Parts: sequence; structure tokens; C-alpha cells
Amino acid sequence: MSLTAASPDPADVPVRRPIRELPDELISQIAAGEVIERPGSVVRELLDNSLDAGARQVTLRLAAGGVRGISVEDDGAGIPADELPLALRRHATSKIGNLHDLEQVGTMGFRGEALAAVASVAELSITSRHAGQPHAMRIDARTGELSPAARAIGTTVEVRELFYATPARRKFLKTDATELAHCLDAVRRHALARPEIGFAVWHEGRLVEQWRAAAPEQRIADVLGADFVAASRPVTAQAGPLRVIGRVGLPEAARARADLQYAYVNGRHVRDRLVAHGVRSAYEDVLHGQRQPSYVLFIELPPERVDVNVHPTKAEVRFRDSREVHQALRRAVEAAIAVSRSAGDAAPDAGAPVDAAVLATSPAPAAHPAWQAPAMPRVQGALALQEAATLYGQPVPPRTWNTPATPINTGNPGTGSSSEPAVTAQAIVPAIGQTGMAVEPDEAWPLGRALAQLGGAYVLAENRRGLVIVDMHAAHERIVYERLKRDFAERRGAFVGAGDGDVGAGIQAQPLLIPATFAATPTEVATAETHAQTLRLLGLDLSPLSPGVLALRSRPAALPDADPVALARSVLADLGGADTGEASTLVQRAHDEILATMACHGAVRANRKLTLDEMNALLRDMETTDRADLCNHGRPTWRQVSLKELDTLFLRGR
Ligand code: ADP
Ligand code: MG
Repeated sequence: MSLTAASPDPADVPVRRPIRELPDELISQIAAGEVIERPGSVVRELLDNSLDAGARQVTLRLAAGGVRGISVEDDGAGIPADELPLALRRHATSKIGNLHDLEQVGTMGFRGEALAAVASVAELSITSRHAGQPHAMRIDARTGELSPAARAIGTTVEVRELFYATPARRKFLKTDATELAHCLDAVRRHALARPEIGFAVWHEGRLVEQWRAAAPEQRIADVLGADFVAASRPVTAQAGPLRVIGRVGLPEAARARADLQYAYVNGRHVRDRLVAHGVRSAYEDVLHGQRQPSYVLFIELPPERVDVNVHPTKAEVRFRDSREVHQALRRAVEAAIAVSRSAGDAAPDAGAPVDAAVLATSPAPAAHPAWQAPAMPRVQGALALQEAATLYGQPVPPRTWNTPATPINTGNPGTGSSSEPAVTAQAIVPAIGQTGMAVEPDEAWPLGRALAQLGGAYVLAENRRGLVIVDMHAAHERIVYERLKRDFAERRGAFVGAGDGDVGAGIQAQPLLIPATFAATPTEVATAETHAQTLRLLGLDLSPLSPGVLALRSRPAALPDADPVALARSVLADLGGADTGEASTLVQRAHDEILATMACHGAVRANRKLTLDEMNALLRDMETTDRADLCNHGRPTWRQVSLKELDTLFLRGR
């Protein structure tokens, strides 16, 4: 290797530039990068300013989801004409004058850079009239030109063509419907915190939201809907100087996404991890893995105990005593949802789960409280045993299980069916099926035959090894999910290659005789319109009937038990929150999650009484379903308790 060959390519040598101060314009653009991500962030900043100015009524007008235009009109104090040029300067603010103010700051904005930042990435003008001025003045941010204008006392800020000069950033924006949803979320956040202020939102000339000044509880209902109020409980707690008030959703109203979580610190909306974690921890044993609680919580504490000046968008805060805040939140939320549980209207599965794993591995299983005598299924079990005996040796029970038929595996489980055999279900009965002939029914059914239902949640079955305990909702959810996935994948193949005419493919839809109509939020309507095709693939034919009302014309045939409107709503929430960059990636990424949501709706509820036939059908379905031994949240769907373990339990043979 010669020296010349090793010498670096001249193109790789960095050219050193002299140190220079950044031009103001560039500094603002960099600042804008931190603060202004999308139209929704502009809305947030403009609303902050209007509220700081003491507005009682704020009107927001949007064009193309806010990408083309945002205007915020308020009846606040206004800006004196001679200060208008200053309002657009960086680090120009009327809100703090010294360090002490910074500690005590009670307003929303205080960095004095929002307007400058927005003006650096969009066209911006301010029209404002301060009290005592004969008329309004308008300033154009680009030219700095001032001109007289007409309006009542207050301010209108108009922003047009966001990111027009930075096409790379404009490309990162999502569909108009998604950006609109973000804008609306920004308004919602403000509206929840300031019920005494009226808000109106127009999009493309249509009024999409309007909340009149109201009492706090009423505002929550107006903004988040009666459904949220019905499925939530009030929170009021005081821990020393710390106060927590608001509403928290019951565990069973948890959602697939964290899209209904509003937290405020001293009236300021935050997306703080400590806060989110504190709330979440209150749901620890009542919420499955990925499910998200919904809440609106206002945390109030003396301003010197919290530093809000740590994050450019003020979304995160620093508490002087974070443990205290975490604990207070946890206790407050726990107390709120516990009230409802003792009142008996909470999730039926909220109690302590039976830990069969402990039983299976513990050397002294009798010591496990869940398995002490009173918990055993005595009465029902004895009866069911008799019924089961009459079933013994008979052909597979007729299907009454309420799901679309899959072929029931009556043969040797070892011989392949079209889907993969349920590997673990068979692995637990290693002795069976190995002769490959004269298979008794018992051996064809690794999960055995059903005996009884326990606690409204478990199916007990008997197989050769002993007792099988099945979590019926979890198991059924997995079966429905796998079936939907298969259905979807098979039929989507036809869809991908086909034109629009073939959108009938996908999950099989069952038309509703009478369309189900329901009140929908603008976000839901927008999502339904944007994703009409995907929704049809999912078996949901949804279309707007009038502003604020959606009509559902079909439901997935595979989910006869699901409440179709609740199902449609959940799917809309999943779709609305999904990354809508590209239809194909959306389908790819979101479909598992959406199908899981659908499966949850379609699966049998806890506390439903099942007949023995239904229980047996469930067991047979489990045996032929992939991954049937784990539920969609990764928990086991069934456990084996061997006769030997039962013997140990009763100290037999010692
Ligand atoms: P900040 O809000 O952090 O002070 P901004 O750039 O958002 O910085 O606003 C600069 C200044 O312009 C504010 O301090 C305020 O005095 C004035 N201002 C902006 N919007 C309004 C409004 N809607 N009504 C009255 N004054 C406003
Ligand atoms: Mg501001």
C-alpha cells in the first residue's frame, strides 16, 4: 500500500469556516425548530398569547388543517400601536422583567420568541387595537409595514403558508385531517383549563367546535364528551400545599392510545413524564399492559415549588420535590377509582388474578391464599362433572360459541391442519398422539373437556394430566384476533393489486339493516373521511351523515357480539392517532393494533355465563389457533395443574 493511496481524499478534508455570529433570521429559525413543529404548535402559542391578554372569547379559523392558514382572534387587551414592531422581535415580551418574575411567572408565554419564531417560518401579520386607541393597526411581519385597520379592542394574529420557505419541513407535515386534529387538540388543552373563556373553531369556513363559557365540570363534558364523563370519576385531593383535582377514567374505559390524557400544572398544560407515570401507577393492577388511562388532572402547588422554564414548549416541568408529586398523584387517582370499585360498577376482572403459575411451581402450594379451600369450585364443579361425564366419548359438541366457524380439529392434532398446530397446547401432553393411531377423543383434545365456569372469568377443564384453567376472555380475544389477522391478510392480498373497485375485500362485512348513527367529534369525522377505504377493509362502512354525525352501515361479520358503535369509535381512535404518512405503511403498522382493538370488542365479556358446549367450543378453537396460549397482552390464557400437583396440594401419597 503506497503512501499516496493512503492520503485522504481532498473532498473529505473539512474546510474551516471562521467563527461568526448567526444572523438573527437564522437564530429565529433555529428557535422555531424547537417550538414550532406543526400548525398545532402555532395554535398553542397564539392561544397562550390570547389567554395572557385576558381574552374572554377566542375564535380560531383554519385552512387546510392549519397548514395554509391559521388566524386567532381575541377580545383581549390588545397591543399598543408603538409596541407592535416589538412584539415580533426575539426576546421581546411584556410578561417578565426580572429574575423574580421568572420564578413567579403565572402566564403562559414568557420567552418572548413565539411570534418571532412563527414569523421566521411563515407569513404573519398582527392586527391589534389597544384600549383607548381610535382604531386598530396592522403590522406585516415580513416588511415591518404598519397600516391602519378596523376592529374592536383585541388582537388578531394571522399566519399563512407555514414552512413555505422550508419545503423540507413542510414535507414532514401529515394530512390536513391529521394536522387539524392536532390543532383541535391544542384548543382542547386550553379550553379544559379555562372554562370561563369561550372558544370557537372554524375549518374551511365550517364551525367545527364551539364551547361557551361554562362551569369546569360542564366544560369537561363539552370538550371530552358525555362518554368520558360517564366512565370517569372526580378527583379532589390535597396533600400539604399540593392540590389535585379533575376527573380520571375508570380502568375499563382505558384506551388503546394515550390520546385522552390532559395534565396541567398551575393551569399550564404539561406532557410530563413524572406526572404521567404517577397517574399510571395508580392503575398498576387494574390495567392490562398497553392500555392507556384517560384523565384530566389539574395539579396546583406554590409556584416556587416548580420550575416551568426548563422546556422550550413548556411541556415539561421540574418539581422541587418530585416524589411528593408522584405520590400525591398516585394516591389521588387510586382513591378516585377505588370509590367506584367498592360501589361495584368497576371492571369485573379488577380483583387479584389467580396465579396458577405459583401453584404449579411452589413447593408448598397449599399456602397460596388464592388456592385455599373456599376458593375451590365445589358446588358448580360437582354438577358440571356429571354433565361432562355424559359428554365423554361423544362426538364433538355442536358449536354454539358465537364466532364464525373454523373447522373443528377432530383428528389427530399431530397431523397438520391448514394453520400451524397450536404447538404448546400439544406439548403439554407429551404422551399423547405418539402412536399415531386409535386416538381417543381425550387425546385429540389437549385442553381436555370443559367442567365448569369459575368466577365468571375462568373455564375449568379436565384433561389427562389433570386440571386446565382457561382465562376465557383472554383466550377468546386471541382466537378472534388471529382469525381477523388471517382474514385481513388473505383478503388484503387481493386488495393491494386491485383498483378502487375491489375495496370490498378485507374483513368480511355484514351490512346493518338500519345504519347506526352516532355523534362524532370533528376529529372522528375527519378520520372517517380520510380512512374510509381502510375502514371498509376492516368491515366498517362509515360515512358522515351531517356535520357531527357518522353513520355506520356495516360491521365486521366476525364480531357479532361487539357493540358496533363502540367498536367503530375505538377503531377511529386508533386510526386517528396512527401515523398517516402513507396509506400502505399505515395499514402495515396500525393494522395489528387495530385488529387487537377489534378483537377485544368481539371477545366474550367476563361474567357471561357459558354453556358447556360453548366452553368446549372455546377449548377446541384454542387448540387450532396460533399462539393461543398467550393473550394479546402477553399474559397466559391457560394453565395446567397436574394431578400430581393436586395430590401435593392435598398431601396425598406422602
Ligand atoms: P411571549 O408570549 O413569550 O411574551 P410572544 O412572541 O408570544 O412572546 O409575544 C410577544 C409579545 O406580544 C407578548 O409578550 C405580548 O405583549 C404581545 N402579544 C402577543 N400576542 C398578543 C395578543 N393576542 N394580545 C395582546 N398582546 C399580545
Ligand atoms: Mg407567547
